[in-house]
Amino acid sequence: MELGGLHHMTAVTTEASENVAFYTGVLGLRLVKKTVNQDDVSAYHLFYGDELGRPGTEITFFDWPQLRVAPNRPGAGEVSTTELRVAGREAVDWWAGRLEEHGIEHSGVAERGGRAYIEFTDPEGQRLRLRDEGEAPRVEGGVPWEESPVPAEYGVRGLGAVDLTVRELAPTAWVLSEVMGFRLVEQYEESGEKVALFEVGSGGAGAEVRVVEKPDAPYAHLGRGGVHHIAFRVADAEEQKEWRERLRGAGLGVTPQIDRYYFQSIYFREPGGVLFEIATDGPGFATDEDARHLGEKLSLPPFLEGRREEIEGRLTPITPVRGGVRR
Ligand code: ZN
Repeated sequence: MELGGLHHMTAVTTEASENVAFYTGVLGLRLVKKTVNQDDVSAYHLFYGDELGRPGTEITFFDWPQLRVAPNRPGAGEVSTTELRVAGREAVDWWAGRLEEHGIEHSGVAERGGRAYIEFTDPEGQRLRLRDEGEAPRVEGGVPWEESPVPAEYGVRGLGAVDLTVRELAPTAWVLSEVMGFRLVEQYEESGEKVALFEVGSGGAGAEVRVVEKPDAPYAHLGRGGVHHIAFRVADAEEQKEWRERLRGAGLGVTPQIDRYYFQSIYFREPGGVLFEIATDGPGFATDEDARHLGEKLSLPPFLEGRREEIEGRLTPITPVRGGVRR
């Protein structure tokens, strides 16, 4: 029983239209599903990914306008950067130019472990990194959507890694390695902080977690531009059930298996404070929409379909400006 790497990350936006403009128009992802948060149907839940939103390529957002005045307070117990994979150094260089064209400040191209990267934020402060996935990546990358404004050879191929910031490395390292089957790849100091790199399954881009130890950091407070949780891949509900037993056996509080319609989920908080999810690879986003028309209209799981009129009536229509950041 082995996790297949990263499944999706879910973050907070407070400006759905601007969010769609940035992630589709600038980053070139496909909006593969426009639905609502199943636990709070007044909020959009937007899913972006490759041409089909394959597991491992998904970035999702809860739209919570009430947090407009509450920017995320960074600190310990959160996903502090989300790394997206692109193919090759040339792609990273290309992105430096594209970000500049769109007036987005960035870190400049740097390198770690022989792989180039560039860091920047979305318009709400979401911390992102685009990084070369390396030669012969072992976790298969996604296929960029052919209608993306980004040329396919430079397109985002999915999640590469996440950085977790914690006060103390050991408890998080224990969950990753002893419970979840990650391997410690290396440990080093960077800017005076201890960093441990873990990988799972076949490893490399798509299956990496970097844990950054900041003993004096205040606890993060989730807000606009913050990450809500990170999800890891499991093949199916049977395996997920076994994972649930394993987590319980390790003394971790874990939710029952929840049917999210596009996949099934279990959630638990690792001891460093980050919310983890384990999600099934299927059934995916083409279950209720034709693959050619993903994300074009509001999708509701069958148990909410009867309330469509009420739910749609409370949502503010999304009016993205094509190809750019709305200001
Ligand atoms: Zn999730």
